[in-house]
Amino acid sequence: MCSQPVLAQPNFNKPFFLQTNASTYGMGAILSQEGEHHAVASQKPKLHPIAYYSATFTPMEWNYNIYERELLAIMKALTHWRHYLGWTKYPFTILTDHANLLYYKTPKKLDDNENQTLLKPELFINTIYPTPTETEKRQLMIIIHDHPTAGHPGRDETIRKATEIWQWVGMRQWISDYVKGCANCQQNKIITHKKKTPLYHITTNDGTLPFQQIAMDLITRLPQQAGYNAILTIMDHGCSRAAIFLPCTDNITGPGIAQLYLDHMYQWFGLPS
Ligand SMILES: [Zn+2]
Repeated sequence: MCSQPVLAQPNFNKPFFLQTNASTYGMGAILSQEGEHHAVASQKPKLHPIAYYSATFTPMEWNYNIYERELLAIMKALTHWRHYLGWTKYPFTILTDHANLLYYKTPKKLDDNENQTLLKPELFINTIYPTPTETEKRQLMIIIHDHPTAGHPGRDETIRKATEIWQWVGMRQWISDYVKGCANCQQNKIITHKKKTPLYHITTNDGTLPFQQIAMDLITRLPQQAGYNAILTIMDHGCSRAAIFLPCTDNITGPGIAQLYLDHMYQWFGLPS
């Protein structure tokens, strides 16, 4: 009971629950979804909070009666979480005082203009996508592109994810521009048209003797061992592909390599052609 609930990430494949409560001067709301299932299958899973919201009423709103304030709380919460609830696949459940529901189930004359503008239930019908404001578009991008769990997906993936939850005219272009302009994406851009050095095939002559045609390379920055920290590799290219490894140091110069060759190779194979 005393432990702080950890907020869960919204899951758009599960229905949302909206719990609101109004007092004289303000309101609070919790957006939640069903969490883990209980061990006892017959019991309903617990609701897990996704987000909290609170707001104070304006002095004009203080004059509303408690039913109106409860409704106002619902409308404020719906507006606040419109980016979640506006395009949810499933109907969401509003949990509020039962008495209020009864009050609004009976036809009411909404005598106040303010209330009428607040009541835009069509905004929350699943299949209708209201044209989002610039702020809402950005909020959507924060969820599906910028957020650490979203991980800055590329343009096409961002568009795909976005169309699952919202659609508006010019959406592809808007998202494309957004991703192009994302500083984080630019910094971590994976170069997809990476230049690849073509592999060069070393040609050989027929009947080449061992170590007549060779390739040499240095393996450097090795841990110091018996005064050495590098290996000169000499590979036979023309005949056997055998390799000779000679210990040396990484500050070895041309004459040093020639000396190693003379000491270890020349006596067996002579000079390479
Ligand atoms: Zn990005």
